[in-house]
Amino acid sequence: IPAIELDNLQKIYRDKRFRAVTALGGVSLRVDPGEAFGFVGPNGAGKSTTIKILTGILRPSGGEALIQGMDVQDHRARRQLGYVPENPYLYDYLSPLEMLRIGARMRGMARSGLKAHCMDWLEQFGLAAVAKKRIRHLSKGMTQRVALAHALVGNPQLLILDEPLSGLDPLWRQTVVNILMAYRRQGGTIFFSSHILSDVEQLGDRFGIIHKGRLRTLGSPAELRGGR
Ligand code: ADP
Ligand code: ADP
Repeated sequence: IPAIELDNLQKIYRDKRFRAVTALGGVSLRVDPGEAFGFVGPNGAGKSTTIKILTGILRPSGGEALIQGMDVQDHRARRQLGYVPENPYLYDYLSPLEMLRIGARMRGMARSGLKAHCMDWLEQFGLAAVAKKRIRHLSKGMTQRVALAHALVGNPQLLILDEPLSGLDPLWRQTVVNILMAYRRQGGTIFFSSHILSDVEQLGDRFGIIHKGRLRTLGSPAELRGGR
């Protein structure tokens, strides 16, 4: 079963004058388990719309979006995925540890061993010392790392990441890339969006270029660089 399957996915918004804006004009795509797929395109191409549909935030106007063969609206499908939005909003008054506990419980982890599992993830993201501080006191980069740890806790089968490396300083970018590589070696699937070529090359083994709501090209990062 594909990790992700989009079949003729369409989304039409209405603008202020109630005119139709086609954000997705029929996108079909398949991501296999264990793949890291980069979704590339300029602003306004339809990347966020696709990700919002995949995470169940937005309903498509037409077509289908499946995660492990299940409709994305199915709660069993959503339990399989960790999601980091472009500008992660996390509950300001909670601590990183509390956020991770919630994430782990959501993915069905038992209470025993939960704290150690959460602390292990916080440690990997350099957040052990601030585990009990309120998120509102953390910097933007730290908040991004809390969001990544929150997505990974409980070992979901699929990660959906909107611009995952933006907002991280160079040192943390490399560490996060390493953590994501380790996640993949354990069989995890990643679907991420980016408008930065080097991010796609670093993280992805396959990419798709979306432009004006249509998928234009599919290929490997080497082909992207070489221009074929
Ligand atoms: P990207 O993430 O690639 O920048 P988006 O998915 O955000 O692209 O947007 C795709 C298109 O849909 C753009 O033309 C954008 O202006 C339009 N759009 C996005 N959200 C809305 C909305 N809520 N209402 C109307 N148009 C929207
Ligand atoms: P609480 O109300 O739970 O005591 P506080 O608002 O006092 O929370 O702050 C929680 C922790 O965050 C404290 O350890 C404090 O030192 C630290 N903190 C407060 N403001 C900042 C800041 N701007 N940057 C980094 N840490 C901060």
